[in-house]
Amino acid sequence: MILRRKMISLLLVLTLCTGMVISADASEISDTQKKTEELEQKKQSAEEEKQALVNQLNAIVAEMDETKAKIEAKETEVREKEEELVQAKIDENDQYESMKKRIKYMYENGNTQFIEILFESKSIGEFLNNAEYITTISEYDRDMLVEFQNIVQVVAQQEETLKAEYAELETMQNNLIAKQDELNELMASKEEEIKQISDDLGAAREKLEQLKKAAEEAARKQKEQEEQARRAQANAGANVSQGAGASVVTGNGTFTHPCPGARVSSEFGWRDEPIAGAGNTHKGLDLAAPAGTPIYAAAAGTVSIARYSNSAGNWIVLNHGNGLQTYYMHASALYVSEGQTVSKGQNIAAVGSTGQSTGPHLHFQVMVNGTPVNPRNYL
Ligand SMILES: [Zn+2]
Repeated sequence: MILRRKMISLLLVLTLCTGMVISADASEISDTQKKTEELEQKKQSAEEEKQALVNQLNAIVAEMDETKAKIEAKETEVREKEEELVQAKIDENDQYESMKKRIKYMYENGNTQFIEILFESKSIGEFLNNAEYITTISEYDRDMLVEFQNIVQVVAQQEETLKAEYAELETMQNNLIAKQDELNELMASKEEEIKQISDDLGAAREKLEQLKKAAEEAARKQKEQEEQARRAQANAGANVSQGAGASVVTGNGTFTHPCPGARVSSEFGWRDEPIAGAGNTHKGLDLAAPAGTPIYAAAAGTVSIARYSNSAGNWIVLNHGNGLQTYYMHASALYVSEGQTVSKGQNIAAVGSTGQSTGPHLHFQVMVNGTPVNPRNYL
């Protein structure tokens, strides 16, 4: 009973201990789980941010393509305008040259002053200024020259405008390139961030996996321990009821033999090697048998003693009434408890060598009104 109670409290302690280990693991698991989920969220938002950057970059690239097309168109316009300007200048010059020829022809025979002015002028503008004072120049030539000069100015102005537009487009494109560089840098750092989160996430997931495995293992071990404890408990409980074998009644005497088949190793009343302090008189009959051999109740009665003592080891005293008692000593196991009634031939114990004993045997003793008598008289 005490053993069983001890075992139950041990079991309780074991259960509490493993329970605590598991709950500690459980809190670590839930922490790691939480951390994993946080990292997953962080990774998702980082990837969303990255996607936003990708979208911005794509928009910029599209804008750059558009600007590039505009620049190319503007380049064509500028080139065409340049050609137009060149042509306008050629026209202007042709007009000037033909006018000079006409003037020269008109004034071939006189007015050398005018021809001097004409040929000394370094530019058309200078000539026209000088010619203001010369009324002889034809209205037609003057008008033509001014018109051609105006065309040159307009074309030059248009070319200037186109060049300015071109420069504007170039600036726009440069800004786009700068923005693209900036976005690429942001993208690189975002990718670095995602990589870091992914690494952390991988580590957290791995840790979670390990913790779960460890918890499963701990739970499995706990179950195993509980199973073992339960079995040990069942075995301890079984000792009284299931350890004993079937009843055996032998012989024709008053008593059935308590250990049939055993060899008498020491007779009642004397002994070969008296144990110190035991006296010279042997109070019972020693029946040598292998440890575990069943011991049977010599007659029906009540168990008045079933316990351990230093000298008798595990021993039993049966009270049969009318002043008659039987003793059974040195047992390895007891299958009955004090106060219990037993039938004749009931398996009450097993042979052992507990207490003061030199080898496995049953010391069988018969008492009549408190005095040992020779057991052989009853078998
Ligand atoms: Zn003995």
